Amino acid sequence: MAQYRIVSGSVAVISIQNPPVNALSAAVREGLLLSVRAAASDPLVRSVVISGHNGPFCGGADIKEFGNVSHLESGPHLVEIFESVEALAKPVVAAIEGFALGGGLELALACHYRFGHSEARVGLPEVSLGLLPGAGGSQRLPRLLGVRAALDMIVTGRHVAAGEALKLGLLDRLTDGNTVDAAVRFAQSAEGKPLDDRRLGNRPCPPLENIDAFFEEALIHARGRARGAAAPLACVQAVRGAATLPFLKGMELEKRLMETLMTSGQAQASRYCFFTERGAARWTTPTGARWDTCRARPISTAAVIGLGTMGRGITVALARAGLSVVAVETQEHQLDEAQRAVSRMLKGGGGVSYSADLQAAAGADLVVEAVFEDMAVKEEIFKQLSSVCKPGALLATNTSSLDIDRLASCTLRPEQVLGLHFFAPAHVMRLLEVVSGPRTSPQTVAAAMQLGRRMGKVSVAVGNCPGFVGNRMLKPYLEQAYFLLEEGASPELVDAALEEFGFPMGVFKMSDLSGLDIGWRVRKEEGLTGPGVTADQPMRTRRGRRYSPLGDLMCEEGRYGQKTGRGWYLYDRPGARVARSDPWLRSFLEEYRERHGLLARRIDQQEVLERCLYALINEGFRVLEDGVAASPQNIDAIYVFGYGWPKHRGGPMFYAAQVGLARVLEGLEKYHKAHPDSPHLQPCSLLRRLVASGSPPIHKWSEVVKGHRSQL
Ligand code: NAD
Repeated sequence: MAQYRIVSGSVAVISIQNPPVNALSAAVREGLLLSVRAAASDPLVRSVVISGHNGPFCGGADIKEFGNVSHLESGPHLVEIFESVEALAKPVVAAIEGFALGGGLELALACHYRFGHSEARVGLPEVSLGLLPGAGGSQRLPRLLGVRAALDMIVTGRHVAAGEALKLGLLDRLTDGNTVDAAVRFAQSAEGKPLDDRRLGNRPCPPLENIDAFFEEALIHARGRARGAAAPLACVQAVRGAATLPFLKGMELEKRLMETLMTSGQAQASRYCFFTERGAARWTTPTGARWDTCRARPISTAAVIGLGTMGRGITVALARAGLSVVAVETQEHQLDEAQRAVSRMLKGGGGVSYSADLQAAAGADLVVEAVFEDMAVKEEIFKQLSSVCKPGALLATNTSSLDIDRLASCTLRPEQVLGLHFFAPAHVMRLLEVVSGPRTSPQTVAAAMQLGRRMGKVSVAVGNCPGFVGNRMLKPYLEQAYFLLEEGASPELVDAALEEFGFPMGVFKMSDLSGLDIGWRVRKEEGLTGPGVTADQPMRTRRGRRYSPLGDLMCEEGRYGQKTGRGWYLYDRPGARVARSDPWLRSFLEEYRERHGLLARRIDQQEVLERCLYALINEGFRVLEDGVAASPQNIDAIYVFGYGWPKHRGGPMFYAAQVGLARVLEGLEKYHKAHPDSPHLQPCSLLRRLVASGSPPIHKWSEVVKGHRSQL
């Protein structure tokens, strides 16, 4: 767990050995402390080098131990170990290869010198797990870098490349060669030299003018970005402690803040997200295929059909993953524009060729179709692809909602047809829904999941149904938001409640950004609005259910959102992004309510949250019941990585468990009673069964779901 050897006669090399990331597990901590003591007491040892075995220096604490207090308490504490490293009377050099992250960097900060490989990365990413660097990192880093640079690293949790770390003074030297050998030579040269100034715990923070004003501002800034997360604010407080308190007092503050965060629901939620992201890679299908038994044929060439918003991003994502891509677009001006846009994003050609002819897709291992959301157009393309493409090529569609199985039946290879649902912008957003229809083969799913990983996506295998998982759950959420407007709320009120909850954007701002016309087109196709609807039909009811025509009326006014400069908000010009309240909308809503005899009532933020989120969660339970998602963790990964659900709230299903399933059920029952014409508020039977079986923890839900037919 910590190898100990003496080299060059006087240098003790302590090597952390815990693959794959050399995490600081209880056994490693034990080994490290014993080794440090051995080095201290051996008169032959005159200096020490600490390194990671076989590559990475150290990935930090062992996250598996976090939720398990008994584990964390076994073995020596990091704080204690780092104190003995720092106090050692012989120079200690950290030899950083690969990465030093979290507790790993804190260990390096306790060393007297830091040697880095030129390709190494360092960082304190604890904040992304709802925590702070709680083993002295929040106190030592500001003493080394100064408050500004340290605060930036700690609050953002970003990884810093070796070159920048050298400039910041975080690393003392870089090497392109063998880091341990270089560190050993350096350690020898430092033998016998005074160490007092090298111990960061002994140093004061570099002075900063107007310190109070600086931290006030830092707190405001962090609060603005945190979206309700507590950890970034605790980080600011801890760094303030480093700047204003003696080291030991600062360490006490760090400990108190860490204890508060550690036991909070937010850290639990963030940790859960960490595991849902990894868990999505372990997919299963009802045919018995699994991630670990199903072999995928590698994909090295791809074709993208349709180079609009999505096709361009998809081309970039595929090219960045190392595939050679042929991009096909029939409109000449679109093709030219796309070529320029893709080259800009890729900073050059990047293995992409362009064509106006579908025949160019003939040699591709995978085709991703991203043309207009129109079944007839897509059916025609799939028919052509079926004969144009080589046998074995996978045919994928980026449709947001259309039936994968219908597209599969246009081809002679339905088992090789699937959905690859990217999110805009496709080269940036982490989520990829891998949609399998009833006939999609396990090998096809496996190949798509593997490709998703190569693109750096969080890929989630889902079943085929309108809207798949993400958009299907979004529908009831949007619908409740419209109903709330009818009942007296304003877009500002609804958005403020959701943004305070932690979404980067409220539902109306989001709708302005993506364009109101998209939903309008879908509703027209579904026959909910448009010429097919006769004048004698009641405006606010469709197929026996409550319906809000507000979105349709807005589109009829030409208010499509940001693209037209007007939507639920007002923008300075078409395409502008800053949303301002629009007095027009206020009177529009007032007139609308009057026309329909609706009495505006006072609606509070709690009702907004419960109506919108419980409706979404309820649909999540239906998705589980239908077997369209394999687990609540998969649903949560979709929402966190594709829909801006705040990480510190875990995802909708985790949130439901945290609120209490009984409370969610009660809320839905109450709202459904008040709005019986809104079936999305009617509690799903799976939720009822879970509550009846005593609300088991989330990882046990599958036992209650069992017995239902799975589509996956
Ligand atoms: P878009 O209108 O921006 O682009 C579609 C492109 O396809 C146009 O450039 C058009 O000229 C081209 N095209 C049409 N027929 C073609 C053909 N036969 N051969 C080659 N090219 C053809 O549309 P978009 O927003 O990029 O959406 C594309 C698909 O992605 C749709 O199915 C949509 O539902 C889905 N999608 C969109 C988003 C989004 O946020 N925009 C998100 C996820 C999925």
